[in-house]
Amino acid sequence: MKKFEDTYQHKGLRRQLVNLLREKGITDENVLSAINNIPRHYFLDSAFDKIAYEDRAFPIGEGQTISQPYTVAYQSQLLQVKPYDKILEIGTGSVYQASVLAEMGAKVFTIERQKKLYDHNKNFCLKTKYHNIKFFYGDGFLGLPTYAPFDKVIITAAAPFIPPRLIEQLKVGGLMVIPVDVGPFQQMLRLTKLADGSYAEERFDNFSFVPMLEGKNGG
Ligand code: SAH
Repeated sequence: MKKFEDTYQHKGLRRQLVNLLREKGITDENVLSAINNIPRHYFLDSAFDKIAYEDRAFPIGEGQTISQPYTVAYQSQLLQVKPYDKILEIGTGSVYQASVLAEMGAKVFTIERQKKLYDHNKNFCLKTKYHNIKFFYGDGFLGLPTYAPFDKVIITAAAPFIPPRLIEQLKVGGLMVIPVDVGPFQQMLRLTKLADGSYAEERFDNFSFVPMLEGKNGG
């Protein structure tokens, strides 16, 4: 059974991580303070306790990963998160990215296609603190029409194309941050939904994500 303890050592490592993210170009103070406040080691197996604050992705089971802190910070910064923003996340994974958004005051609706990860997240350790995260089991390509429209959409897996349903579920003026492409690297895009239902596109750096897959996995 994992023990949840946030020691001075963890806090010190977290401050160093935040400094590193600053050096790498993250400037949104709300993103940096969210990362400073969240014990990332809680989201990992205790075997990773000592290295949880390295700027690396780690395996979380079912062949999936917790994204690298720089990637989480980068996507969160592009999303221009404001308190009470209604945000749809595709790819719950470890819940770390969702927690960063929740810590910034957003209402987060997060979808995971792997049943085992979704079930595991029912016992998410910071559930009481982040009551503003709602968990869904399903196919992110379909989004959550019942809860639409959203102010923001964030995709945390490599999208082979821009899912049309997710554009539909975005408010006019809303933002979508999405890594697109099927090769080993994806380019980070930020889309702004326009009044005619189409979108404007801005292009950013390349990243490497696990693939966004169609359908659910696990019944
Ligand atoms: N945001 C996560 C990153 C997880 S990695 C974190 O902070 O840890 C990407 C996740 O997307 C994986 O858990 C994978 O199972 C999930 N995924 C891939 N395709 C999906 C889809 N179509 N719908 C929902 N989740 C999907």
